[in-house]
Amino acid sequence: MGTIVSLQLYVENPAAVTAVFNTIEALETRLTVNREHSEVMSINHAAGKHPVTVSKLVFDLIQQAKAASLLPYSRFNLAIGPIVKLWKIGFNGHSIPPADEITHRLSLTSPHLIELDQTNHSVYLAKAGMEIDLGAIAKGYIADITKLVLAQYNIHQAIINCGGNVLTIGSSPLTSSQEWHIGLKRPFAAANSLLGILHVQNKSVVTSGIYERYFIFNKQLYHHIIDPFTGYPLDNELQSVTIISDSSLTGDIYSTILFGFGVRHGLNELEKHKNMGAIFVTKDQKIFIKSNQHFQFELLADDYELCQ
Ligand code: FAD
Ligand code: MG
Ligand code: MG
Repeated sequence: MGTIVSLQLYVENPAAVTAVFNTIEALETRLTVNREHSEVMSINHAAGKHPVTVSKLVFDLIQQAKAASLLPYSRFNLAIGPIVKLWKIGFNGHSIPPADEITHRLSLTSPHLIELDQTNHSVYLAKAGMEIDLGAIAKGYIADITKLVLAQYNIHQAIINCGGNVLTIGSSPLTSSQEWHIGLKRPFAAANSLLGILHVQNKSVVTSGIYERYFIFNKQLYHHIIDPFTGYPLDNELQSVTIISDSSLTGDIYSTILFGFGVRHGLNELEKHKNMGAIFVTKDQKIFIKSNQHFQFELLADDYELCQ
């Protein structure tokens, strides 16, 4: 998945570790758009030609991604693939595309043109050139599945980290409070340089941000979260949004959606979602927190300001 996946267990169980990594590889093989063949690629290859029947798992994930794309004001868009492939941000060969090519490809990104048939589990992309991209949701889904795999091995205390998607399972054996301490990275700094520490139990902690996958050209930063209304990297006051939730799938969806909302709209939205908390970090070094009692945050960086 273009990242390092790490798993920490507190009992010795090599079979469980193997099972988790085999499961992740199997899911990546079905969901990736970075190889010629996968279930999602078979849908993309058939765009404008015919519907493709996929497994229930892939169908369900696409259905959830489509629903997230159709939420009011959502800039999450599972049909963003043609634009992601054009920019190649985070991949070899990234560049600023010609404006007319962006405009053309925007016409291929309407989530309404993704037709789902519940009975056959088939997916049809109604225009040739359309492409589904599950990059903003799949790691969360995969993290949740690993929790189920570990439960089959009777493991109920662990941490899995799929590159920005951290899932803490159960309570921590490492602290007297039994809370896990999750470091929130300082944007654009070395991995061990922290903004602060989250204290959580049995929660997913997912971050979407502009500081892991980006390139700089003419002093301008181009990052990987695309605004589906413009076809350019989403430009607002934010550096990152971290979502704290029970499900990592929900966290992954909402880290991307609330990134698109920005601070004010995002904080308001969380009034409606008491099952989630969030941390918004802005480019001018302000931190806005809505905990909804899911976590505590300890600020470490004294050049960042905690705001209400
Ligand atoms: P999130 O904020 O959760 O999502 C951002 C990602 O979603 C973008 O990178 C893009 O892929 C997509 N996206 C951009 N704009 C939008 C939007 N408006 N709405 C919805 N989605 C959007 N990386 C590699 O370098 N090589 C690989 O071979 C590779 N294979 C992968 C296979 C799988 C199954 C997955 C899940 C990921 C893979 N990746 C790979 C990484 C992938 O390209 C994304 O960078 C990654 O999923 C981003 O996750 P995030 O949590 O950092 O960002
Ligand atoms: Mg993500
Ligand atoms: Mg996401």
